[in-house]
Amino acid sequence: MAHRASDLYGSLVFAGDVMLKRLPPDVFMNLQRTIKNGSPLDPAIANTVAGAMKDWALEHGATHYCHWFQPLTGTTAEKHDAFLSTTSDGGAIEKFSGSQLIQGEPDASSFPHGGIRDTYEARGYTAWDATSPAFIYRSGDEATLCIPTAFVSYTGEALDKKIPLLRSIQAVSAQAMRILRIFGADVGTPSGVNQIIMTLGVEQEYFLVDAELASQRPDLMICGRTLIGAPAPKGQQLEDHYFGSIPQRVMAFMADVETRLFELGVPVKTRHNEVAPGQFEIAPTFENANVAVDHQMITMSVLRETAERHGFVCLMHEKPFAGVNGSGKHNNWSLSTDTGVNLLDPRDETHTNMQFLVFLCGIIRAIDLHADLLRASIASAANDHRLGANEAPPAIMSVFLGDMLTDILDQLESGNPKKTMKGGALEMGATTLPQIPKHTSDRNRTSPFAFTGNKFEFRAVGSTAPVAWPNTVLNTIIADSLDFMATQLEKRAGKNPSQAKLEIAVKALLKEVVKSHRRVCFDGDGYSKAWHDEAAKRGLPNFRSTVEALAAFGTKKASELFAKYGVLSKRELDARHEILIEQYVKILRIESRTLQSLVRTAMIPCAMRFQAELADAVGATQACGVECPGAEAQLREVVGLVEGLRKSIALVEKAEQAVQFKGDHTKEATHYRDVLLPAMTDVRNGCDSLEKIMPADLYPLPTYAELLFSTH
Ligand code: ADP
Ligand code: MG
Repeated sequence: MAHRASDLYGSLVFAGDVMLKRLPPDVFMNLQRTIKNGSPLDPAIANTVAGAMKDWALEHGATHYCHWFQPLTGTTAEKHDAFLSTTSDGGAIEKFSGSQLIQGEPDASSFPHGGIRDTYEARGYTAWDATSPAFIYRSGDEATLCIPTAFVSYTGEALDKKIPLLRSIQAVSAQAMRILRIFGADVGTPSGVNQIIMTLGVEQEYFLVDAELASQRPDLMICGRTLIGAPAPKGQQLEDHYFGSIPQRVMAFMADVETRLFELGVPVKTRHNEVAPGQFEIAPTFENANVAVDHQMITMSVLRETAERHGFVCLMHEKPFAGVNGSGKHNNWSLSTDTGVNLLDPRDETHTNMQFLVFLCGIIRAIDLHADLLRASIASAANDHRLGANEAPPAIMSVFLGDMLTDILDQLESGNPKKTMKGGALEMGATTLPQIPKHTSDRNRTSPFAFTGNKFEFRAVGSTAPVAWPNTVLNTIIADSLDFMATQLEKRAGKNPSQAKLEIAVKALLKEVVKSHRRVCFDGDGYSKAWHDEAAKRGLPNFRSTVEALAAFGTKKASELFAKYGVLSKRELDARHEILIEQYVKILRIESRTLQSLVRTAMIPCAMRFQAELADAVGATQACGVECPGAEAQLREVVGLVEGLRKSIALVEKAEQAVQFKGDHTKEATHYRDVLLPAMTDVRNGCDSLEKIMPADLYPLPTYAELLFSTH
């Protein structure tokens, strides 16, 4: 019989009831203060917690524990240690101490460090993050206790994505609290607001491909995307896949994924077919950001592993197939008090909700001032294929507000907001159907940063990206802007202003902010050429490629900003910049080598067989005294394509091997973008032209038609 999801939920997580039952009350309360209120972790409780975790993990069949962390590779890392420990009398027991829970010591020099560590300076530490619950991860028959940790160098510099994220959440919290204080909220008392929490819900898009077919495509297996491949006769033209009925085989996979995620306490909620054939989406209910980020990493692992068990490969790449939509991650972000009040809820009479309007205008200001950093936060070689390709938001960062808020912005600009636009009801003209309330505004899926009711949806994030980094950047730029808003209000209205005085100060400030920064707001079609022209006129940056975008992290503005809010020191930021640009180069190099091998060992040899068959046929036909101009022309065409392919693949090799840059990754990346990528496109065009005329039995790879429709 099927299990009820509510029974499974969290069964493999050391939190909530499990913790309550297994920890002495004083230790439980002590730990809760860290988890719920952000109090410093008390090391005195570590031994007791470790003992309880170990017993619980052993009961679930775990033999090992690991410190689970997010190095700058873009994935998660784990080093497993057995609980088993030998005793002096030759026996063995299971042991797990408080110090093993709190601290680990992986080799820091083997992870990307962007120059922070030298090869001989190996020491790094992992440190227990008690605010994200430990969990038992099952892989086949093996079970491992995973402890979410931060990863730091011996020098104290962050070598991971978690530490800056936590610092950025603190930064937003501190500035947002100042604004609440100005508006007279109950702040800092036991029953009042003690911190601001960032809430996050991340929708994940992915493709599924039959594993047997995928294994015959070295490009998919090595690079996660097809480097060649002509379009299938049917792609997404009929728009019949989006929200279509889920194929049975996929449904079984999704149900399995959900069961595993429920056990791991990941609150997955939504599943559906996406726009492209073979493309799907999974989305959770939002949670506090630190936990949501860890859960997002777990979700990607579970998707990949479960796909294997169902005979699929799960492609998380931003653009696995040319000509159909790629995949992204919608990053739904909001701020909430620790008492559960969403600070981005506009409420009914929004024009009177001054506190909301201060947050809203502060965020608009942040996106306008730091559009370059936000764009850089989502830059990657893979995301370059997607941004601005009429399927994903453009590389121009803009804010969608909808009619109601746009109307309020107009009113703010004139100095005195008087009304809130209402949505009304939708009448469908059939008496049996209910009258439904209508939103004040339509949806806009072309906007990179859209206000969607009571949260912002950052839609330009790539589907493989760990979301810790874009959220770290988002939080930092918003902390900066909220700092400005709070400082201005304190200056203009004083620390404990009367209602009337505060309102005057707020209206004056918002008027200025709206005037200076609403150029970043745009509600129209973000895919259109008209918007690109308009954005250029407004002076909004448009960094089309990763190479240009990442330069934002090298500016003085950036290093001062991240340092000011204690999120990243200049060295820590420089390290990330360096790693990102190096990753761009490495990815293109791997793609280029895969393409060279594919073309030289498969595509050209097969095309030569085709050429030989044609030549034989033409020769034999002509020897019989029969003219065959059509076949002759095709022979010439094939010879031309194959010769062209030989030349263009040589250019790819040459472009890739350019060595004149002596380790300057930015120069190398620029060269790859300007010379290697176009050369790879030429090769692709040659291959795809051949594919279209080659006999099916000679084409060496599964085709797009086979790959895209393999889930049925
Ligand atoms: P969509 O139509 O874009 O799929 P949904 O209403 O399904 O929108 O929500 C998408 C995601 O937004 C979900 O993960 C949801 O939990 C999340 N979300 C909703 N409210 C908030 C919030 N206040 N903060 C952060 N995320 C939120
Ligand atoms: Mg969405």
